[in-house]
Amino acid sequence: MAVQLESTQRSATRVGIGEELVAEFRRRTPRSAEHFAAARQVLPGGDTRTVAFHAPYPLSVAHGKGFRFVDVDGNEYFDFLNNYTSLIHGHAHPAVTQAVTEQLPKGTVYATAIAAQTKLAEILTARVASVDLIRFTNSGTEATMNAVRAARAFTGRDLIVKMEGGYHGSYDDFEVSVHPDPSIAGPDGAPRPTLDAQGVPANTIDAVAVTPFNDIAAAERLLDERGDEIAAVIVEPVMGAGGMIPAERGFLAALRAMTVEHGILLILDEVMTFRLESGGMQEHDRVRPDLTTFAKIIGGGFPVGAFGGRAEIMEQFDPARPRPLWQSGTFNGNAVTMVAGIAAMESYPPEEVARINALGDRLRDGLNAALTTASIPGAATGYGSFVGLHFAAEPVRDYRSAARGDQTLKRMVHLGLLLEGVFCAPRLMFCTSTAMNAMVVDEAVSRFERVLARVQAAA
Ligand code: PMP
Repeated sequence: MAVQLESTQRSATRVGIGEELVAEFRRRTPRSAEHFAAARQVLPGGDTRTVAFHAPYPLSVAHGKGFRFVDVDGNEYFDFLNNYTSLIHGHAHPAVTQAVTEQLPKGTVYATAIAAQTKLAEILTARVASVDLIRFTNSGTEATMNAVRAARAFTGRDLIVKMEGGYHGSYDDFEVSVHPDPSIAGPDGAPRPTLDAQGVPANTIDAVAVTPFNDIAAAERLLDERGDEIAAVIVEPVMGAGGMIPAERGFLAALRAMTVEHGILLILDEVMTFRLESGGMQEHDRVRPDLTTFAKIIGGGFPVGAFGGRAEIMEQFDPARPRPLWQSGTFNGNAVTMVAGIAAMESYPPEEVARINALGDRLRDGLNAALTTASIPGAATGYGSFVGLHFAAEPVRDYRSAARGDQTLKRMVHLGLLLEGVFCAPRLMFCTSTAMNAMVVDEAVSRFERVLARVQAAA
C-alpha cells in the first residue's frame, strides 16, 4: 500500500515537473512554435527527419558558428549534437567555408569524375588500413546498402546479421530490430528479428538475423547454426543510435574470427565512429574488416556516404568488368561535398582527434560525477568524443540494458538541457567538436547539474 502510494506520488510529481518544463519551453520559443505550425502544413510532422522530432515541437535554428547556434527566438545553445556527430568542426568552419566558396563559382557537379573525388578517396584509404578501394554515396544509408549488396554478390548468400538495437540507416533490411519491444522480441540471448515499422515487406526478416551486442556466445551459436547462409555480419564499433555503447574488449575480434571461419564478410559500420580515431575505431580495436562504411564527418557538413574495403570485393563495382555491380547516384562524388570533405579531414589530424576525445572523456566524467552527487541512478557511456547518458540502474552494454533505463526521465532532462542552452539528441546523445574547449565542456556540466536539481524529485 505504502509502495503504491509512493509510486502514485512520484508519477504526479513527474507530470508536474514535465508540464512545467514544457510550459517554459513554449514561453521561450514562440517563433519556433510558429515555424513548426507552418511546417506541418506542408511536411508531415513539420520536418524531414523522424529522429529530430521531440515534444512539444523541435527548435527552428537561425544560424550557427563554431560550437554554438542561435534559434529563431534568439536563444543561444551549445551544440553538443553537431548534426548527429557529423559536424566534427562545429558550424561554419573557416577552412570548409573557404573550400566551398572557392568551388561554387566553378560549378557543383558535372557527371564526370573529378580530382577532388580522387583526393578525398586517397585521404580515406591512407587513413584506414583495411580500405583498398572506396566509393562515394550521398548518405550513410546508401553506403551500408551498397556494402550489403557487395557482400551478397561476393558470397552468393543472402542472410545479413545485425546487432539488436543497431542502426545502419533507413533501408528495408535495416529497419529490423532497431528499437524492438523486448517483450515480443524473444529471449535476451537469442533475440528474434522484428520489423520496426510497417511498409517494409514482411519477408525482410527472412533476410536478416539479429544477435545481442557484446555477446560472443550468442553470435557463436547463430553463426554455427546458420553460417553457410550468411553473407555478412554488420556491426558498429560503438553502437551509436543504440546508446553510445562501446564494443567490449574482444567482441569485434571474436566476430572477426568467427566470420573468417564461416566464409562470412565482416562489415564495420564506421559511419559514426570514424571520428573516434584517425584510422577509425578498427584501428583502436585492431580488427581488419572486409568492408567499412563511412558518412557524416567525411563530407564536411554536406550530404555524404562512402563504402570501401578489400580490392577483390570492391572491384565488383568496376564498370569495365562483365556484369558489374550497379551503383549510381546523381550527386555521388559531387564537387561541393568532396572539397568540403577534404578541408574537414585535413583539419582533423591525430592531435585533434585526441584532443576532442579527451574533451569527451571530460564530459563523461563530469556527467557521471553529477549523477553521483545527485544520487540519481545512471551512467554516461561512450568512447572518446561520443557520450551517451542512461538512467539505468545496471551497466548498459547492449540494447536491452539501455531500453530498461528510465526513458521518461531522459525526455525531461533533454527539455531541461534545452532550457539551459545545451543542445543534444532527445535520446541524450552528445559529442564534442574541435570548436570546443574544456571551458565549454565544464559549463555544459554545470548546466547539467542545474537540470538534475530541477528533475531530482522525479527521479
Ligand atoms: N550507420 C550508422 C551507424 C548511423 O549512425 C547512420 C546515421 N545516423 C547511418 C548508418 C545512416 O546514415 P545517413 O543518415 O547518412 O543515411
